[in-house]
Amino acid sequence: MKIAVYPGSFDPITNGHLNIIERAAKLFDRLIVCVMVNHDKKPLFSLQEREDQIRRVTAHLSNVTVDSHFGLLAAYAKEHNCCTIIKGLRAGSDFEKEFQMAMINRKLNPELDSMFLTAEHQFMYLSSSAVKEMGYYGADLEDFLPAEIMDEFIHRIRNKEA
Ligand code: ADP
Repeated sequence: MKIAVYPGSFDPITNGHLNIIERAAKLFDRLIVCVMVNHDKKPLFSLQEREDQIRRVTAHLSNVTVDSHFGLLAAYAKEHNCCTIIKGLRAGSDFEKEFQMAMINRKLNPELDSMFLTAEHQFMYLSSSAVKEMGYYGADLEDFLPAEIMDEFIHRIRNKEA
């Protein structure tokens, strides 16, 4: 059984992330979307909230499961028998950082490969931080955020302290 892991902050999950998940789910027997705990970022949503949001948004994909991890991704992949890390590539700016991460993960776990799926053109410039910025100033987010999490997102961003 081929298992892949798609890691990220997903704060919140966007239509760009969902597009990568739907495409990767077709390529593997099982896809684990793994919310990684990042010390540098103060998230808008808790780990539990982000996991719940991803579960709601991916409910139609029977081979997708959701998890979270605090620590090294290479170790997580080994523990869960993942052969591949999935990454989404947007503009060239993602490339250098992701290339370095792929090298490091392969060094830490030589069994592990990284696979890059290019962003769809309409999501090329979409990031969770851009969605938060737009949401904060009241922009229409219909094209960027899954409908299942829209109300929760708008409620949270409008009540966020400046
Ligand atoms: P960000 O906070 O930058 O939106 P995450 O850390 O949650 O992103 O990203 C997780 C993964 O999803 C990364 O591999 C990232 O490159 C990818 N990704 C993020 N947004 C998009 C998008 N709009 N299209 C394709 N891939 C994306």
